[in-house]
Amino acid sequence: MFNIEDIRKDFPILSRQVNGKPLVYFDNAATSQTPQQVIDVIVDYYSNYNANIHRGVHTLSQEATDLYEDARQKIQKHFNAKFSHEIIFTSGTTHGINLVANGFGSFLKKGDDIIVSALEHHSNIVPWQMLCEHTGATLKVIPMNEDGELIMTAYDKLLSDNTKLVFVNHISNALGTINPIEYIIEKAHGVGAAVLIDGAQSAPHLIPDVQKLDVDFYVTSAHKMCGPTGMGMLYGKESWLKKLPPYQGGGEMIAEVTFEKTTYADLPHKFEAGTPNICGGIAFGAAVDYLNSIGFDNIASYENELLHYATEKLLAIDGLKIYGTSNHKTSVISFNLKGIHPYDVGTILDKMGIAVRTGHHCAQPIMDFYKIPGTIRASFAFYNTKAEIDAMVEGVKKAKMMLS
Ligand code: PMP
Repeated sequence: MFNIEDIRKDFPILSRQVNGKPLVYFDNAATSQTPQQVIDVIVDYYSNYNANIHRGVHTLSQEATDLYEDARQKIQKHFNAKFSHEIIFTSGTTHGINLVANGFGSFLKKGDDIIVSALEHHSNIVPWQMLCEHTGATLKVIPMNEDGELIMTAYDKLLSDNTKLVFVNHISNALGTINPIEYIIEKAHGVGAAVLIDGAQSAPHLIPDVQKLDVDFYVTSAHKMCGPTGMGMLYGKESWLKKLPPYQGGGEMIAEVTFEKTTYADLPHKFEAGTPNICGGIAFGAAVDYLNSIGFDNIASYENELLHYATEKLLAIDGLKIYGTSNHKTSVISFNLKGIHPYDVGTILDKMGIAVRTGHHCAQPIMDFYKIPGTIRASFAFYNTKAEIDAMVEGVKKAKMMLS
């Protein structure tokens, strides 16, 4: 049973005040809040199991190793990867993308194309630009339309035998659009290209089945999924992960080291150099457990209700424009008030205890497309309420009066 009052009790931060007002937290696309169940796991780890993993014979090290590897299996099951060694623990989405981009540096050459989309976060643009700079490959971009959707007929035309890689986010962080990744993956595979999907914004709202999607790489961050910062995962098909060279050298990722030659450890350790974020990995597993205990179907339908409620209320404000009007979107609303800078609205809302994000949301090309400096972005999670949306709508009206 989905009981919003009970769910809110799981999140201690939701009962704090900001600027003398109850916190209304609508910056979930930037980072989600942490339930007590995950906080308890973090405290438990440092209170009882803190030890370095994989190399100790002592009990603490073995206990920490077991918990860390259990977490990997939870993540494997959640995303339906075939093997647990296809789950590489990373520091987050950005790390996962850079790991793959760096690895492809040894495969690409001048004349090869790689394709990104107009809806990408900077972390799914800049690493590929860097890759193109040092391999001579060309970066091509799937364009978007006014509704904030990718134009698939244009994508079809970009694909050719030269296409080696396609990178698209599953859901846009700036607009909330859900991209047709099934189509994108199938078409890319049709020309022999590999696909990386940036799942930073999707994994908190739905369960991506990596085998069903037949995706080559899928990346996400734990902190968007009620887990800790500095933690994430890269799923890669075993065949690709075996081919890719290691990203960083160091301890944990080797089989044997001599001054003449080093051999690398098997997957997943080949990509996990150095002491990892052990507690973060365990807490990531706990966060996935927590989300599953709420149920992703419940999460999706409740967040959808919040999205429609807020959209209707906001559109009733004269001069308010929403960017990203696709029918396929998650609970993100990017908007502006005519003639008013988004930053000014965000500052006034903060005085009322309402946390929204303002700016380009690390997606400057989208802002350039709409010819705006940025937007006010309200992003809802399953622990938000309609009453909080009412408070924001009142706040936006007040801000409009003060700033007009
Ligand atoms: N891609 C998307 C779509 C995102 O929303 C984000 C986080 N805003 C990232 C990548 C980067 O994630 P992280 O900062 O956790 O590495």
